[in-house]
Amino acid sequence: MSDERIVKSTCCNCHGGCGVLITVKDGVIKGIEGNPQSTTRGTMCAKGLASIQETNNPNRLRHPLKRVGARGEDKWVQIGWDEALDTIANRIKESSAQFGPNSVVTGQGTGRGYNLFTLRLASTIGTGNMMGPAHVCYLPRLMVYTISVGARLMPDFHGWGGDFPKTIVAWGRQTEITNSENEMAVWFLDALAKAKNLIIVDPKTTRLTSRANLWLQLRPGTDAALALGMMNVIINEGLYDKEFVADWTHGFEKLRDRVQDYPPEKVAEITWVPKEKIIKAARMLATDSPTAFNVGQALEASNNCTQNNRAMVCLMAITGNIERPGSMVNWMLTEAGQLEDFGREIKITPEARDGMAGGDKFKLGVMGRFSNPDTIFRKLREDDPGRARVMHLHGTNPLLAYADTKAILAGLLKLDFLSVADLYMSPTARYADIVLPVAHWLESDGVWDEHGLFHFSAMVKAVEPPGEARSTYWIYNELGRRIDPKYWFDTVEQVFDYFIRRSGLTWEEFKKIGFLKKTGKEQKYYKYKTDYWRKGGGFRTATGKVELYSTTMEKYGYDPLPHYLEPNESPYSTPELYKQYPLILSASLRTPYYFLSQYRQIPWLRERHPDPTVLIHPETAGAMGIENEDWVWIENQRGRVKQKAKFFAGLDPRVVMAQQAWWYPERNNEESLLESNINVLTTSDLPPDPATGATTFRALLCKVYKVEEAANG
Ligand code: SF4
Repeated sequence: MSDERIVKSTCCNCHGGCGVLITVKDGVIKGIEGNPQSTTRGTMCAKGLASIQETNNPNRLRHPLKRVGARGEDKWVQIGWDEALDTIANRIKESSAQFGPNSVVTGQGTGRGYNLFTLRLASTIGTGNMMGPAHVCYLPRLMVYTISVGARLMPDFHGWGGDFPKTIVAWGRQTEITNSENEMAVWFLDALAKAKNLIIVDPKTTRLTSRANLWLQLRPGTDAALALGMMNVIINEGLYDKEFVADWTHGFEKLRDRVQDYPPEKVAEITWVPKEKIIKAARMLATDSPTAFNVGQALEASNNCTQNNRAMVCLMAITGNIERPGSMVNWMLTEAGQLEDFGREIKITPEARDGMAGGDKFKLGVMGRFSNPDTIFRKLREDDPGRARVMHLHGTNPLLAYADTKAILAGLLKLDFLSVADLYMSPTARYADIVLPVAHWLESDGVWDEHGLFHFSAMVKAVEPPGEARSTYWIYNELGRRIDPKYWFDTVEQVFDYFIRRSGLTWEEFKKIGFLKKTGKEQKYYKYKTDYWRKGGGFRTATGKVELYSTTMEKYGYDPLPHYLEPNESPYSTPELYKQYPLILSASLRTPYYFLSQYRQIPWLRERHPDPTVLIHPETAGAMGIENEDWVWIENQRGRVKQKAKFFAGLDPRVVMAQQAWWYPERNNEESLLESNINVLTTSDLPPDPATGATTFRALLCKVYKVEEAANG
């Protein structure tokens, strides 16, 4: 008799965490659809729907593997789990004993519900060096919110306080297609339908530009100048929220003086946005409020990362758009409390803190407990005595994610030992000593708690994983147990019980309910007027106010007020280089079909987007004899890579946007790694953001010309 059932779970194909219903028949997945009862109300994207092609993908890793050839030669022998995990644990312990715990690096990619496990493993080892792309993605924003407001802020697209945003500012972010940082498209689009105004700040047209009241097409990398120019207008025209500024901010006079350096005329020259538009946008967002600021990662992959985000927080604060319904709000957590404690409850030792790579320079970056990857790889290349020796990576691909692929590869090859856990033999896994096969989220139980927001949900195993693949959580627990059992558990179910203990539920009970949430009237606004953060009212900052002038930045020796810094390479900072490379290169173009380096091997998705593409204005292309869909070289002083030209008139003719993290799973070798991967052209040699160590990905220089030989493949 056939057995058909519906499994309620949570999609983890990006960090959205959409609620899903999985139809399983006779142990095989027959369909996936959104769960209308979940907080994402039945919506899903192409990546989530295509995940059905991951469970049966012939390229999945099925068994633990041990390298038998040279590094990168792709020669392996199958081993058992005990041998694989014992080997990794022993190499970690040996390195810790010989060179100190900081010689071990634990690493992961984007947040997928197991950040806390990577951190707990790092703390179990006693290393300060937990690594991820956090320095250019979300962590800087969180740290800036922490030091400026004392709480992370999210746009209020929910209207639980009685008001939706009247004006929405989409600044370097397309939530309508990305579902990034727990702001989901369905919530954003609902709020947008109710909003009076939409202001888009983006170097290119987006799917919503035609809906926007204003589109500010800024030069890549000039965000802080634009925000400071807007504040100049708002303050000098007296449009700021005088009551909020007087009662709840610190350092307004100093900010007022600072913004005088950014009159709209000057900002128009810097940003390429006409002065009239800057003024109009500033007046609109200040007066037609509440205003929600939907700010993206574009502001972070920059040598001015911290000040870009500081400028945004100041803009929110002086317009009174913090904790007001329909503006920027800190969501209260569910009864389960702060699940992030699972990662933080083993306190970092002073030795680990001192040994965090980049910790001596990037104080804000390491506040979030991630060390700086560029420093880790630089020390490796330079044979620094304090370099990493052993690295354990889980679901991450430094060869595609970090700046300067060749330098990262040179660093990886210097490691004494590298282990990688992944679903596929990724470009980075090819250079490992041991590779662990990971179960897909459709094949795993788990608890989804991405950024400590108003809901968290259960991942419920729908089918068995292929071969001997095991869940992320099982792998972390087994590895942790082998290093120091006192911090880990006998079974993975016990891990989940402990993880959600404050909710009063067991894992088995929680699994049946599916999620916990705090929504509607349960959410409170204007929390700074109560004892919520501070007795007698106020914010959880050193001054108790929103810090326009940051006392933390001052303490660390950084500029306490936001400022603009020209990109390291640009028509203005490097005019000679610009003659040679006359196009601005934004090297981080994304599509709705892939998530960074993931999913190139999923047939439905690859069919939609088969080749790497670089957006180029038709006039620019025409002047170079480039036709639409021609293969072109994108070149700068660091190298060249090949992508397909896609004509795009919604871009300034002086700018091109190249697709990020491209690789060819069908030709997974060193040659193909360097063929179209735009990070061959990026670098960590230029000065990074002083406070976070962020590298510039979106404002470099290049030239583009047609590939004359036969097209790729
Ligand atoms: S947005 Fe992310 S979590 Fe939601 S369906 Fe798509 S891939 Fe899955």
